[in-house]
Amino acid sequence: MEAAADREPVTVAAATTAIDRARDLLRAGRSVTTFSGAGLSAESGIATFRDKHDPNALWAKFDPMELASPEGFARHPEVVRAWYAWRREGIARAQPNPAHRALAERDDLLHITQNVDDLLERAGASIDRVVHLHGEIAIDRCHARCGYEARLDLARGSVTVEACPKCAQPVRPGVVWFGEMLPADAWQRAEHACRSCEVLLVIGTSGVVYPAAGLVMLAKSAGARIVIVNTESSGASELADIELLGPAGEIVPRLLAE
Ligand code: NAD
Repeated sequence: MEAAADREPVTVAAATTAIDRARDLLRAGRSVTTFSGAGLSAESGIATFRDKHDPNALWAKFDPMELASPEGFARHPEVVRAWYAWRREGIARAQPNPAHRALAERDDLLHITQNVDDLLERAGASIDRVVHLHGEIAIDRCHARCGYEARLDLARGSVTVEACPKCAQPVRPGVVWFGEMLPADAWQRAEHACRSCEVLLVIGTSGVVYPAAGLVMLAKSAGARIVIVNTESSGASELADIELLGPAGEIVPRLLAE
């Protein structure tokens, strides 16, 4: 584990000091918001998208524009549905890791996540305290937005329907695809939280997917202290007051320990 804010090689003692400083910040902060990405769920066995060292990273194996875009869905709905069915199975099998559990134990935190999984909620976080910026994979919705939406029970393998029961248009996963707008209510909550928090704890995101990645700059500009946890430096590194390099499942519980 490494404290990288100054980009110097660090000793174990220095890394421990950085964790202590971050823990102090998180204790002192009256409002702490978390902002997470796929790295938070990596230790639960859910592949990330862009991790340079992870041969299982999803975009390394598949063309994102075919699997996660309205155009790809129009061209090959059956391929997109099969890919999401496979991802849903993986997420249903996955269990929250120590980072999810440590975050969920703190009921004063607001969690803004790019993750479409439900591991924070399954770890015990209140659904009111989790903002899914990129939607939720457990939701099916009408592609034409007629209003049809169904929450699936992934653990029980709920069956998805292909045609909307209300308007007969195609049904698709309730996630945000390339080129689509983020859900307005989730974005407003996220912006408000980042403008008003004292500390933003950024966990496991490459910080390159906009507009979500811009939330770190928004919080920084509004005066928040930024603590980053990631296995390597990311697009948000230069905004960090404290950057802790290492697995979220090890670092986050230490940061939030009483
Ligand atoms: P990303 O794949 O672009 O980046 C993952 C980041 O996590 C990398 O910076 C990597 O260094 C870091 N990381 C990997 N393992 C880690 C660990 N154990 N501890 C800490 N950090 C770790 O992910 P992103 O930034 O969330 O990209 C955005 C998109 O990926 C989002 O749209 C999201 O919806 C989607 N996504 C979601 C899931 C999920 O729901 N679990 C999985 C894959 C992708």
